[in-house]
Amino acid sequence: MPGGMQLKYEVLANSTCALCGACLDWCPYIANIEDHLVLRFDCNVEHGRCYSVCPRTFADWQAISEKYLPDAPQNVEIGPYFDVYKVKAAQSINGQQDGGTVSHLVKTIMENELVQTVLLTGSNDNITPLPFLTAEAADIEKAAGSRFLASPSLRKVIEAQENKVEKMAVVGRPCQIQAMRKLDYNRRPDKPPMEVLTIGIFCMWSLGWEFKDYLESKFPGEKVLGMEIPQDGFIVKTDKGEHVLPLEEVKKFNKPGCGYCLDMTAELADISVGAFEAEKGWNTVILRSLKGRELLEQAQEKGYLICEPFPEDELVRLKGASLGKKSRNLDNIQAAFDRGVKPFIDLESDMYKQIREVAEGMVK
Ligand SMILES: Cc1cc2nc3c(=O)[nH]c(=O)nc-3n(C[C@H](O)[C@H](O)[C@H](O)COP(=O)(O)OP(=O)(O)OC[C@H]3O[C@@H](n4cnc5c(N)ncnc54)[C@H](O)[C@@H]3O)c2cc1C
Ligand code: SF4
Ligand code: SF4
Repeated sequence: MPGGMQLKYEVLANSTCALCGACLDWCPYIANIEDHLVLRFDCNVEHGRCYSVCPRTFADWQAISEKYLPDAPQNVEIGPYFDVYKVKAAQSINGQQDGGTVSHLVKTIMENELVQTVLLTGSNDNITPLPFLTAEAADIEKAAGSRFLASPSLRKVIEAQENKVEKMAVVGRPCQIQAMRKLDYNRRPDKPPMEVLTIGIFCMWSLGWEFKDYLESKFPGEKVLGMEIPQDGFIVKTDKGEHVLPLEEVKKFNKPGCGYCLDMTAELADISVGAFEAEKGWNTVILRSLKGRELLEQAQEKGYLICEPFPEDELVRLKGASLGKKSRNLDNIQAAFDRGVKPFIDLESDMYKQIREVAEGMVK
């Protein structure tokens, strides 16, 4: 397994980094300046942990999926799943992004002591992401809502390991769930395992941190309270009111690494949660593992979550959106490989061939 220099040349130099944060804080050589990662010194370690956890270095993703989600039937559009539901919290909490499902799953995890700590991503200014570990239900509200700036939240995993945590839960974007799986999949046999319960949040793209300066220049002196992405437009809520920005304008700030991302619905998570686009205030929930199913059932038993059947036409739309992302970004990956970027997926594998076939079939 290669090390830091290969991470620098294959990932950082090619701007494929997803800013998951999994390589940060373990090693004095890798640092971040806001959302830019730098390797500060040449590193001659031959088997780097940074390289082995990174979602943008080569992995057999099919094998990883089968190892961690062995029970659910595979699906080419949205990954392995048992069921999809329309879900929302029975009682909303302050600042929740959509239906508050994630916050109430986390509450259930904490109250039922399923893990020792949970990784959440809050913010002090409602813009800049601030990841933290907690076991306190009172902290859940501090993380409610989406920070659309990419957050290197997985840098906190080292803190959990230093504290000898054996069971943790992670709320993360699809790239972060990929890194969590790789962390275990490529774990050295002499390293203790850590059991992880993963809640993945849907993600089409995230924003570079220069978006903060853009907001400051657009709405000088206004305090940002939250952001939303409805069907069209991008809403910025401030202490002076609501502003709608054209989506195309906002997308100019997309992290370049998101252009190589094939996962919209957190396909390696135990349970995945996104917005239910057809009706405001609800979530789409995808169950992928038995652990994920048990967690949802426990949250329902507590009366925290209301679950309804998922409309068939919405499932078709969801699968189409997910497949569209895969298809677009497979083209970007192919173009990068053609430019000489080292492959981080096997484009000739059945999984990617099948994505192309299904995508082409939908276009015809
Ligand atoms: C960058 C980004 C892009 C997204 N894109 C889509 C999309 O295209 N389609 C879609 O359906 N949904 C998308 N989502 C998910 C959506 O915004 C909600 O997070 C999801 O619907 C859960 O809603 P909720 O009310 O249950 O969340 P809440 O109960 O409000 O909980 C939100 C949780 O998100 C976590 N979080 C917040 N910001 C981040 C971050 N930057 N990185 C990691 N974790 C974070 C917090 O820890 C918190 O626990 C995106 C989220 C993010 C952060
Ligand atoms: S994708 Fe994650 S692990 Fe890879 S270089 Fe970026 S922050 Fe580090
Ligand atoms: S689009 Fe992919 S790489 Fe970018 S933040 Fe979302 S999950 Fe990560």
